[in-house]
Amino acid sequence: MNERYCIAETASLHQALERLDQSGLGILVIIDAEGRIARTVTDGDLRRMILQGAKLDDAISALPSRAPVTVPQGISRSDALEIMDAHQVNHLPVVDTQNRLIELFDRKALSKRIFLSPPHMGTMEREFVEEAFTSNWIAPIGPNVDAFEREMCDLIGVASAAAVSSGSAALHLAMRLLDVERGDRVFCSSLTFVASASPITYENAEPVFIDSEPGSWNMSPRALERALRDAKSEGKLPKAIVVVNLYGQSADMDAIIDLAEAHGVPIVEDAAESLGARYKGRSSGTFGRLGVFSFNGNKIITTSGGGMLVSDDEDLIARARFLSTQAREPEIHYEHKEIGFNYRMSNILAGVGRGQLKVLHDRVEARRALFETYSRELTDVPGLSWMPEPTWSYSNRWLTACTFDPEVSRVEVPTLIKQLADEFIEARPIWKPLHLQPVFAGCTYYRHDKSSVADQLFANGLCLPSGSNMMPDEVSRIIDKIRLIAR
Ligand SMILES: *Cc1c(COP(=O)(O)O)cnc(C)c1O
Repeated sequence: MNERYCIAETASLHQALERLDQSGLGILVIIDAEGRIARTVTDGDLRRMILQGAKLDDAISALPSRAPVTVPQGISRSDALEIMDAHQVNHLPVVDTQNRLIELFDRKALSKRIFLSPPHMGTMEREFVEEAFTSNWIAPIGPNVDAFEREMCDLIGVASAAAVSSGSAALHLAMRLLDVERGDRVFCSSLTFVASASPITYENAEPVFIDSEPGSWNMSPRALERALRDAKSEGKLPKAIVVVNLYGQSADMDAIIDLAEAHGVPIVEDAAESLGARYKGRSSGTFGRLGVFSFNGNKIITTSGGGMLVSDDEDLIARARFLSTQAREPEIHYEHKEIGFNYRMSNILAGVGRGQLKVLHDRVEARRALFETYSRELTDVPGLSWMPEPTWSYSNRWLTACTFDPEVSRVEVPTLIKQLADEFIEARPIWKPLHLQPVFAGCTYYRHDKSSVADQLFANGLCLPSGSNMMPDEVSRIIDKIRLIAR
């Protein structure tokens, strides 16, 4: 009865008005002598009572009885919302089997969604964008772009960077810079987002997919070794190896670099998900001939859309800038000797990026802390294992990822995802491996060993909401739900 929205049947109209005023919900639940719900009452109901001549100290039991729409405990948010829509109400009492009130659902609170990885702005972004407006640098190229590139270089310890319109654009430029052409082969991690491999096909080259290793979920050096050996014996080594750092964790770069160097094949490090992560103390994205970052809306920091191509080879980056501005020769008239792209980042978005860089460290800490919370609170869920973090890795934990061992687990991943979705909690499967994608049917694939690690991870894996701006009550909501379903 001490609930702010409950009131006894015996209360007066005056008390009801007062309680309604305090609660601010616009609705009260009237409780009878046995503690059951008699009805709900809105301020409109009370106003009508007064208009019909009721006195302030009349009991509210004078209201005509009207059984309220209630829902049982344990109903999903989406089902509850459907009932609200059907009855055109904004509040819904949740009751136990005795018709006693458990809680009152409120439409606004109920419909709050938890996203997988929403943007999280800091405090400086607006200032940098404002600067672009006041100086009228509303263009691709400009002082924010130059500064963003410089600041990025300083932060990760690389010689040169080109800010571009997306991570995909950066990857495409990387293919061009490494002279990937029709008929060439390019090796690529299989367990990744399609954008890691799409640029290979833009240049009409042939992707060859490499499995993950269980220890890092990233490119298996063992599979890579076999692939390189085969390619060598066929006399057709790849033009490049695209190594992905999945969910913010670096691949085992030393092992991969050794193999690549032994065959003289350059590495493109797809660090779209791993900005702020480290491998043996060194910044992720700085290991390949070229490194690629993404600032898409769901990444650890974002410019709403954008990317960066980095390298210690300043000539390569200079050429990337040239190709990303339509390969325009330095002439007053528009002179072109080859075909380029319109891939440069806008000066406004670079302003957002500069602000985001300032909070990157905080974002990494927040996502790592969130992972710690998940793993601490869900330790006793049968069959659940987390994406491992090898000793050489410092992951940014962009997404908290886990697997459910089908032999032990009480849930199937697709069912769990659906049940979480019914609670407006966005969880996703692990990336569908590219060698399983219809668009890449027929491409060669190298497994880690007899079984494919990537296939296993896809079949049993799950990514949990990982936003750095998630509220503690939202985190509890997710954890409670998973414990309820899977424990
Ligand atoms: C997001 C992502 C990309 C593409 O970046 P965009 O900025 O969205 O084009 C490439 N590779 C990986 C692994 C990604 O996660």
